[in-house]
Amino acid sequence: MTTGLSRRPLQQWEVRRQRAVKLLARRPHAAPPLEFLLELLPLQSELFRWSTEAEWPGAIVTGAGDDTPKLRLDALSIDLLVPRFATFLEGLLPHSPDVLAEIGAGVQAREPTQRALLKHYLAGQDLSEIAAGLDCEARQLEFFPRAFMQPIAEALARDTAVPEDWQENFCPMCGRLPQLALLRDDAAARGRRLLVCGLCASEWTFRRGVCPHCGEERPGQLFIHSVPDPTHVYVDECKSCSAYLKTVDLRKDGLAVPLVDEIATVELDIWAEERGLWKIQPNLLGM
Ligand SMILES: [Zn+2]
Ligand SMILES: [Zn+2]
Repeated sequence: MTTGLSRRPLQQWEVRRQRAVKLLARRPHAAPPLEFLLELLPLQSELFRWSTEAEWPGAIVTGAGDDTPKLRLDALSIDLLVPRFATFLEGLLPHSPDVLAEIGAGVQAREPTQRALLKHYLAGQDLSEIAAGLDCEARQLEFFPRAFMQPIAEALARDTAVPEDWQENFCPMCGRLPQLALLRDDAAARGRRLLVCGLCASEWTFRRGVCPHCGEERPGQLFIHSVPDPTHVYVDECKSCSAYLKTVDLRKDGLAVPLVDEIATVELDIWAEERGLWKIQPNLLGM
């Protein structure tokens, strides 16, 4: 039976799934990442449910300083996570693109590799050495612990309020980088800009007209690149540091689901890359 607490957040996974189905029909050029996302979402939603019911002592820091992330990912029990990680890989690999399936099979083959990978990822450490042992690149290997930890971190983060005065360019909950920005009207502010975490999906207010990477705020250095379709997703470029991230404007499309729409607008990433820009946080599917 679903508890009152988890019922609503669990619906978010269904909302994401339905949005991916809708965008798949509308944006055939984005079919490969969307089809893969549709395989991934049910596995993630199951991990989310599991995480809400598991005990995670020490995972949330209370009373920490105002500039300290609240979630202690490195305090999570690896012993508890590893068996789940193995099950996750088992469910995912048959549906993965060839390159990922091959790397994933290497991870799946050895329990110590799974353990080391999770440990390094949760501590925010470099994955290069483990990647070299699997004959792949660290950024490819990162997909597995990130896809696995996303719903668990999201479940952990949702019960703790984001500090209202948080002004950093990293997540107040887990300390990771923003995946995207969104704009929406709310009771307190019209066109409020929020950054969305690439791991735990927490949202925090961030000043408009400021680069979330280098802090540039001169208008002549910051550019918006939009396309005729879709109009609600565009690229925010900073000329000073060449970083970009995408913004999803929920005032233009109230039905958008930012994390899904971000993945479905792969053409904007290709355009930005051709222009020599780099993304503050590639999305889960590597774009
Ligand atoms: Zn986060
Ligand atoms: Zn910048």
